[in-house]
Amino acid sequence: MNSSGTEFATRVIRWHHLWGRHHLPWQQTQDPYRIWVSEIMLQQTQVATVIPYFNRFLKALPTLNDLAQAELDEVLRLWTGLGYYARARHFHRAAREVIKTHHGLFPERIEEVAALPGIGRSTAGAILVFAFGHHLPILDGNVKRVLARWYALPGWPGHREVESKLWQHAWRNTPQEGVGRYTQGIMDIGATICLRRAPLCEVCPVGWRCRARRASSQALFPAPKPSHHRPLRTTTALMIHNSRGELLLERRPPSGVWGGLWSLPESGTSSGSRWQGVLEGPGVEVGCPWPEIRHTFSHFTLVITPLPVHLKSLPKFVEEGPKWVWYRQGGELPGGVATPVLKLLKRWSTMDNESP
Ligand code: SF4
Repeated sequence: MNSSGTEFATRVIRWHHLWGRHHLPWQQTQDPYRIWVSEIMLQQTQVATVIPYFNRFLKALPTLNDLAQAELDEVLRLWTGLGYYARARHFHRAAREVIKTHHGLFPERIEEVAALPGIGRSTAGAILVFAFGHHLPILDGNVKRVLARWYALPGWPGHREVESKLWQHAWRNTPQEGVGRYTQGIMDIGATICLRRAPLCEVCPVGWRCRARRASSQALFPAPKPSHHRPLRTTTALMIHNSRGELLLERRPPSGVWGGLWSLPESGTSSGSRWQGVLEGPGVEVGCPWPEIRHTFSHFTLVITPLPVHLKSLPKFVEEGPKWVWYRQGGELPGGVATPVLKLLKRWSTMDNESP
């Protein structure tokens, strides 16, 4: 670390001591499993949202062993509403891998941690810093923003060369002494001071040599992701219900969009074409479509048209079992459910859907 790196770290640590966050639930432990839960949840999700999910998750699955032994449905159910469900699936797989490959002990080598499903280099670094005090840098989205501005580094951080430079800067500033306080401090500065839209430079502890601040060019760093057109995809969510007012839910394939979650059957997919035949057959009442719902994914926007369908009897390809289930109004969810589907289920539960 050079002298400006030392000064940078000293200021971050001092600021964290005075103004940083010290009472977050995952700061009260050095248990790598608990820290791991928090780091995975904090990927793409803000602290205030994560706290209740973190507490609920650990109440249900307090140890790594509990997570490894849990059914994926249970894990996804605990994750429902948090989004980015691949995180939960990978986390579950990774827990099983730690039990199998590392005899249940969380590995301490960065290469081994980063090789686990769903753990990148930054998350691995954060867990090892907070649980074991290892001297490692982190580079989450907030830290990238601070460093990109501080060094006025051009380019989108998703580009390999830009990211590689950011890692070099992260290494340069990470101190040997007080690495935990420094890491928490720089995360907090990114989350609460070096804000995306209106950074609070006048109270920033590292503002004294921030290049972007000096040039009043904070808004230029980090450069945004090159824009791409986000296509629209459409689907019809079939709200198939029986005379007891129960809705038919289908478990989605284990990978892909909403992988492993419970959802409404769709028309427009391969199983959807089978439904098309059912909808045109006897004993079926198709209601008026509900208003469209839009859900944005990173690569496309999904436009969902919910369509109530009353069936007197189920077609042969549906058998209650691992893939299909009737959901009772207001009943317990069979597993994880994506947010737009959850909204539909909630709305459905407020209606009188039983047939006389
Ligand atoms: S001075 Fe402003 S732009 Fe620079 S790191 Fe601090 S908050 Fe961010």
